[in-house]
Amino acid sequence: MGRRNRLHREKRKAHALWSQGQLLSLLKDPYRYTPEQRSRFAVHLVKISRRHRIRLPSEVREIVCRTCNTLLRYGDNASIRFRNGHKIQTCFSCNSIRRIPYRQHSMKVEA
Ligand SMILES: [Zn+2]
Repeated sequence: MGRRNRLHREKRKAHALWSQGQLLSLLKDPYRYTPEQRSRFAVHLVKISRRHRIRLPSEVREIVCRTCNTLLRYGDNASIRFRNGHKIQTCFSCNSIRRIPYRQHSMKVEA
C-alpha cells in the first residue's frame, strides 16, 4: 500500500516537472504567444510548483514577480538595474522591488 502510494506520488511529481518544462519553453517563446498568454503560463507554472512543492526553475524566478506572479518584461512592465552587486527588479504591476545578490560573475573591480 505504502509502496504504491509512493510510486504514485513520484509519477505525479515527474509529470509536474514535465509540465514545468513545457510551460517554460512556451514562456520563452515571445514570438508565438502574446504577453497575456505568456503571463498565464507564468501563473500556471508558479501554481504547479507550489502544489507539488517543487522548486521553481531559476529562470522562472528571474522573470516572474514573486509578489503578484506577473511575467516581468523589462522595459515594459518591469525594470532592472544593477547596483552594488545587486540586481534590482522593479515590478510595475504591484510596485514591488526585489534585490537579488549578483554573484554569478563576481568580477572584482579595482577602485
Ligand atoms: Zn508584481
